[in-house]
Amino acid sequence: MTQEIMHPRFVWWNGQRRPWEECTIHVTELGWSTVGAVFEGIRAYTGDRPDELYIFRLREHLERLERSMRLVRLKLEYSLDELSEATIDLLRANNVHEDSYIRPLAYAADTSGKRFAQIGHDAALLVNTSPMASHLKSGMTQVAKVSSWRRISEDVMPPRIKNLSNYRNSQLAGMEARLDGYDTAVLLNNQGKVSEGPGACVMLVSGNQVVTPHVGSGILESITRDALIVLLREVLDLEVVEREVDRTELYLADEVFTCGTAAEVTPITSIDKYPVGNGSIGPVTRALESAFDDVLRGRDARYGHWRTPVELAVPAVV
Ligand SMILES: *Cc1c(COP(=O)(O)O)cnc(C)c1O
Repeated sequence: MTQEIMHPRFVWWNGQRRPWEECTIHVTELGWSTVGAVFEGIRAYTGDRPDELYIFRLREHLERLERSMRLVRLKLEYSLDELSEATIDLLRANNVHEDSYIRPLAYAADTSGKRFAQIGHDAALLVNTSPMASHLKSGMTQVAKVSSWRRISEDVMPPRIKNLSNYRNSQLAGMEARLDGYDTAVLLNNQGKVSEGPGACVMLVSGNQVVTPHVGSGILESITRDALIVLLREVLDLEVVEREVDRTELYLADEVFTCGTAAEVTPITSIDKYPVGNGSIGPVTRALESAFDDVLRGRDARYGHWRTPVELAVPAVV
């Protein structure tokens, strides 16, 4: 097994695939350089055969990276095709044969002494990969609380993009929830309506309808949420409504789950000690986990346009 090395062999950094050890910056670069950083979180999933690996919705993630960079005035120096090829090449070079996380990060280079007041810093861009096992269909569940922290709003920070500074808000809510004995939080927005969890969107099932806060609720424009809306409609034949959602709807829902690249589909079994439904994973959530897994791992041919295949060398049989 080559997996004894705890980091991948290569990182893609500023236009080149480079050995991990060479990718260092000076300590004085720490601090302001990341205030304006934006990133992406992308997953790659193995298929049923050992040479199968699929990146989920790579193009949409790279397009969102471009939008995030544009909003924080960092210039993207590469085409999306170049970034896409670099990502595929990196996964192959790192000999990735397991479910993995791919994280492009763009930050303002050379900010030492300049802080963040200037605009037009050169953008540095890196892409790294790390193993991240899927928890879909594993039976993993979470208990949640409604956070006392409100979700950042459009008049303070840009909630719809993956802006690194936004995550202090998610982190405060997540820490509060865990210290209070819960696994995760649901944040309300400044209007007191349901927004999202720390790094994950929220959906609830009520009868035959699935309801999720609309994009004006201060949510991040989640690619997983978008995909699940399609699967709920097309595969599970359910009605999905995007609208404002009240806190008490969470307490009365039949099923609640969070979703996102990291969260995948995570069933929530209680909120503020109100059991959700009968307190176990509901049938819609269960069916959705299964349908999503089939899409991610290349079993569902209808959604091939969401998958970028990484052709891997078959690992030697030992
Ligand atoms: C990344 C993220 C999500 C989920 O978005 P995906 O595109 O599905 O990964 C939700 N909320 C926040 C705050 C996020 O950063």
